[in-house]
Amino acid sequence: MDYENFFKSQIDGLKREGRYRVFADLERRVGEFPTATFHGEDAPPKDVTVWCSNDYLGMGQHPVVIGSMVDSLHKCGAGAGGTRNISGTNHYHVMLERELADLHGKEASLLFTSGYISNEATLSTLPRILPNCVVFSDALNHNSMIEGIRHSGAEKHIFRHNDVAHLDALLSRYPKNQPKLVAFESVYSMDGDIAPIKELCDVADRHGAMTYLDEVHAVGMYGQRGAGVAEREGVMDRLTVIEGTLGKAYGVMGGYITGSTALVDCVRSFAPSFIFTTSLAPVLAAGALASVMFLKEHNEIRIRHQERAATLKRRLAQAGLPVMPSVSHIVPLLVGDAHLCKQASDDLLRYHDIYVQPINYPTVPRGTERLRLTPTPFHDDRKMDHLVDALLSVWKNLELKRAA
Ligand SMILES: *Cc1c(COP(=O)(O)O)cnc(C)c1O
Repeated sequence: MDYENFFKSQIDGLKREGRYRVFADLERRVGEFPTATFHGEDAPPKDVTVWCSNDYLGMGQHPVVIGSMVDSLHKCGAGAGGTRNISGTNHYHVMLERELADLHGKEASLLFTSGYISNEATLSTLPRILPNCVVFSDALNHNSMIEGIRHSGAEKHIFRHNDVAHLDALLSRYPKNQPKLVAFESVYSMDGDIAPIKELCDVADRHGAMTYLDEVHAVGMYGQRGAGVAEREGVMDRLTVIEGTLGKAYGVMGGYITGSTALVDCVRSFAPSFIFTTSLAPVLAAGALASVMFLKEHNEIRIRHQERAATLKRRLAQAGLPVMPSVSHIVPLLVGDAHLCKQASDDLLRYHDIYVQPINYPTVPRGTERLRLTPTPFHDDRKMDHLVDALLSVWKNLELKRAA
């Protein structure tokens, strides 16, 4: 076997389809978000405006977060020094888990090294230990949920995206007393739409199913204290498990679940990807703790964030650009072709100092390739003027489709 040739041909396939991923080499600079230094391959470094960061509220550079991290670094050192079970539970982990349980109104919470692992660990473990558990998964669920469910080995059904009636029909095939788990997200990060959480919980309850909600793209940003869409809609107590990340709006790194004491204790005790890995560095837990506590008390940041997103959507629509309908802070702009999407992104970066990554298959379906804009409270009117002008110029040069 010519291994090298095989690997190269795999990559050539991606390149032919226009979906070979090139990472933008960015140097973020504290205090200048969303401006960063871009290190290109064939040009000197330059300043660019980042329009696709998941640091949705700029908390990754917030003085309160940085202060807490610097402070804990000097107090506790660099790493945790072990798994949670063997010397790696730091007091910051314990304080953060208390804070997160309180945030979501649950008895307990558990930290993981990422949101990805929190989904993978929990969704592979709960259906595995429950006898004959059947899992019902939204068609647009994130890869971390899909992989977790797959690893559980449980029987699985996919319900049409946000389709309560379809979920109801699938659940009806099973006796009420058979264990079931319904897994879905609140804000879907590629389209920016929001699940009918209450209605999904009503159906799940009727069929005796547990509910698992991924609030990764909502925590910090929705609800009076930033607990997510379930808080905003007053339904947190309806969910069996609420999962979140510390790496997006909270600006740091790590993931978590919240739920009942017994359920969380089971994941803690039976999930290999929780048990057999070094715990989060104490600095990360300290930074996340500061961020969660800060955002609990600063609803005005959420209000400004929503205003910025609404303004950008309006400005793009007024300019005749094909902004896709979104009821959240996520602003997708349809291109509809992988090569053109990459070209649009390249041109924005090269000629306009604007960085927005192309989103191609398999992250989104073929034919719906897009630029996914994520305005933050720091994207002011001047930056929006510049963005709209740049997009109009790129749309004209590449003869991209305008709004219908
Ligand atoms: C990003 C993401 C995750 C993973 O979170 P990380 O903390 O980045 O690992 C989980 N679920 C959804 C829906 C996501 O978009």
